[in-house]
Amino acid sequence: MKILIIEDEPEIARFLQQGLSEEGFTVSWEANGKKGLERAQQEAFDLLLLDWMLPELSGIEICRSFRKSDSQTPIIMLTARDTSADVVEGLQAGANDYIRKPFHFAELLERIRVQLRSTSPSAAKALLRLGDIEMDLEAHTVYKSEQVVQLTKKEYALLEYLLRHPGRVCERAQILDSVWDSNYNYNEGIIDVYINNLRKKLDDPNQPSFIETIRGVGYITRSHEA
Ligand code: CA
Repeated sequence: MKILIIEDEPEIARFLQQGLSEEGFTVSWEANGKKGLERAQQEAFDLLLLDWMLPELSGIEICRSFRKSDSQTPIIMLTARDTSADVVEGLQAGANDYIRKPFHFAELLERIRVQLRSTSPSAAKALLRLGDIEMDLEAHTVYKSEQVVQLTKKEYALLEYLLRHPGRVCERAQILDSVWDSNYNYNEGIIDVYINNLRKKLDDPNQPSFIETIRGVGYITRSHEA
């Protein structure tokens, strides 16, 4: 699970980074609001931890801009402000939850877990769609132009990961971590094998692949439908 912290106080950021890494999260940190927003829009994170007062762009502004293109990734605001008007403003801007500074790490961790649970596969919408590719999560079935496509377990898991992050760069290490058991050292080349299988089974002839390779980085999944 990948978390982006946007926080300009290095001590708090380091504290969070260390604590969350120990809990098994992959943690990235940006100290500047504008850079933080760019990063949140470019990479696929599972959750954003957002400070309120930041250089260049406030947490609220980041939240509003981010929500224009992403309504699902949970956002938790970290705030020293605690009047109810501020809290309402944060929630209206699209934050899912907030926590007041100073906070106990255990409480933050619990709130993060609650957010991640509520977006977990069982709670998320049961259908993922990209162009004419459809994944029915309850029936565990994939359709291409309404025809069932047989996928192996790993192909299915990889496709699910990609369809959950459309239009975003999915890094190879991140895919490996989410789709393959991270307790084993797999060679990242294994991803290419499965990506190629998905392309063979799901691409349209005479069209660019729905999975675009970003050389040296990873993949972006897009629909080429008009
Ligand atoms: Ca701050």
